[in-house]
Amino acid sequence: MPERQPPDSAAVERALARRYYCPSCGNAALESRDNKLYGCSECGHTYFHNTAVAVSAVIEHAGAVAWITRARDPGAGLLDLPGGFVERDESLEEALVRETWEEVGFEPEAPQYLFSIPNRYLFHGVRYSTVDVFFGCRARHRAAFLPNDEATALEWLAPSAVDPARIAFESTRLALARLLRG
Ligand SMILES: [Zn+2]
Repeated sequence: MPERQPPDSAAVERALARRYYCPSCGNAALESRDNKLYGCSECGHTYFHNTAVAVSAVIEHAGAVAWITRARDPGAGLLDLPGGFVERDESLEEALVRETWEEVGFEPEAPQYLFSIPNRYLFHGVRYSTVDVFFGCRARHRAAFLPNDEATALEWLAPSAVDPARIAFESTRLALARLLRG
């Protein structure tokens, strides 16, 4: 099972200390050279563990924002904004629409870039660096919600009514703080 978010520091240390196999020759001697570059001492291959991009939708309706309860780890049972990782050959806008459809069942209207925040995402013992891109959007109405593979509940909460301790990711807590500052 993957570690829950927020990750405990011991889990992060285990992920950082873990040795990775070279994707070129399979040797277990891939060494971290800086925060994203790994080098193989056997064949000289260099591997870039690049930052992944994720999108988050701040969907507003009548002063409240749509929050999902995550169905899966990391952060199962905790609050999150609709969103997820951008796929290959996909734009940020396309990812935003796809992920929102998958999680809450409607299309966000008039998405506007708000800001981006770096994040760390621990999954199956591997630590990924991400940059989470937040978009402000609107919902025409509060559509009926069906629980699905990614979200078990949908709540419309005013930003001031959200308990930061219920939020799955640090970047989303920082986003909430920015939304509250206006
Ligand atoms: Zn190698």
